[in-house]
Amino acid sequence: MTIPGLMQQNELMISSLIRYAAEYHGTTEIVTRTVEGPVHRYTYADAEKRAKKLANALMGKLGVKSGDRIATLAWTTHRHFELFYGVSGLGSVLHTVNPRLFDEQISYIVNHGQGRYLFVDLDFVPVVERLAPTFSHVEGVVILTDRDHMPETTLKNVLCYEEFIADASDELDWPEFDERSASSLCYTSGTTGNPKGVLYSHRSTIIHALGAAQNSAFGLSVYDVIMPIAPMYHGNAWGLAYIAPMLGAKLVFPGPKMDGESIQKLIETEGVTFSCAVPTVFTMLFQYLEETGKRVDSLSRTMIGGSAVPRAMTEKFLDSYGVKVLQLWGMTETSPLGTVASSTPEVDRLPADEREQILSKQGRVQYGLEIKVIDEQGNQVPRDGVTYGDLWVRGPWVVAEYFRGDGGELLDDDGWFPTGDVVTLDRYGYIKITDRAKDVIKSGGEWISSIDIENLAVGHPKVLQAGVVGVYHPKWEERPILILRAAPGTPPTEEEILSFLDGKIAKWWMPDRVFFVDEMPLTATGKIKKITLRETYKDCLRD
Ligand code: ADP
Repeated sequence: MTIPGLMQQNELMISSLIRYAAEYHGTTEIVTRTVEGPVHRYTYADAEKRAKKLANALMGKLGVKSGDRIATLAWTTHRHFELFYGVSGLGSVLHTVNPRLFDEQISYIVNHGQGRYLFVDLDFVPVVERLAPTFSHVEGVVILTDRDHMPETTLKNVLCYEEFIADASDELDWPEFDERSASSLCYTSGTTGNPKGVLYSHRSTIIHALGAAQNSAFGLSVYDVIMPIAPMYHGNAWGLAYIAPMLGAKLVFPGPKMDGESIQKLIETEGVTFSCAVPTVFTMLFQYLEETGKRVDSLSRTMIGGSAVPRAMTEKFLDSYGVKVLQLWGMTETSPLGTVASSTPEVDRLPADEREQILSKQGRVQYGLEIKVIDEQGNQVPRDGVTYGDLWVRGPWVVAEYFRGDGGELLDDDGWFPTGDVVTLDRYGYIKITDRAKDVIKSGGEWISSIDIENLAVGHPKVLQAGVVGVYHPKWEERPILILRAAPGTPPTEEEILSFLDGKIAKWWMPDRVFFVDEMPLTATGKIKKITLRETYKDCLRD
């Protein structure tokens, strides 16, 4: 029989992060490129004060209670950061909505989340004006700006954020309550079916932040200057909105501007050492750096994830700019840290070629998360780095069920969550994603990895983006085709691309056709929208 331990049982509260940062790193800066334009800077101590003012205003002026949802349509800024703490700190739930979604999806998500108030950045006021008649629960809108920048609007019950918090008290003892209480809500893009809500708790958020703050994970410390380009509405800026205060590290928020010039400037002027984004953002940054000859010298590491990181990108970052790329695999459902491609002493000792091969994979788990890779019969696949299987995950920061029961039971009997990704697992514990289960190409009964072909294709100097999808073929059921967006300058020909791939992949993996597009269709989280590509080209091999 066990006996109870005799240690304190404090609840794991999100407010403890900002309280710690304000108390022990009170002078450390948070710098924002604001939606209004100028750069804003203040400290963790200022941020906590304003989060308390916000919490008091929410309770006192709007009657917000624990459990109420507060929705945001907002960029990564200091005001959004205040909402992260002011809202969750009270026991109410911060519902970050991705403003890049279509109108119908935004309306669906806001209504499904049943948010009472909506906090919006200036750019999104027209969206809210359009959608206001469709909102079922929203009682009022708070515009994230000051009086001077308040727009003319047709909206009713509108408040100005700076006025809303100005006269509220900055005195508040953050309440302590059950750590299992919901803290924030984030919807997956819903590439199939309706978007689904992942409802994080205080406990899952703190444990995730501790897990990701392990030095062997993101490799961060108080000496870093962290700029999350991955937005706050996407996996809470990949957890960095919580991890940075936990470490007391300086934060730099890019606001609405994610173009190469704005990002380079912030990195240079603020001495950013660590950043994170999906690959497409860095493609834009490279273009700017190449055009202007500008540098990003302070940057030492960057985390890239959300879709596979092309080897060419990792090499260019390191060889041309001295920046080490850390690949992350994750999902909204995993808070988002799943695996990260950090090294180990064992991997360091391998010959350079083999080591790079392994570190270009999606990564290995950190303490706190478990993975299993299983075949169609439900058996674990060998750890040989070759055999494919479905990836399942389990742990305290993995979803247990979607908000309001959508999608029914998610987990198997032993509590594992099916990720929908198809992977290999090697002897060092690194996974490599072959495809999303729904993107797998099956040609004549054999699997072809779209991700491998895409990665090779973007290694061609005249290629900017590459998407591979399987389309109907009368003989082979499905064959891969390659869709490319060319880099500025003379575009490559189909023959050039095919001969570039020749010898690098199996003959039967060679795409049957190559198409060129001016714009690559992207999802709201910046991934190539394969569903659109499949639909556009579905009949191209029919005759
Ligand atoms: P969505 O984009 O559908 O909202 P997420 O952002 O949660 O959802 O996306 C999770 C999915 O993104 C993963 O299941 C995986 O397919 C893909 N993904 C994430 N990181 C990587 C990576 N490093 N390499 C390849 N695919 C990735």
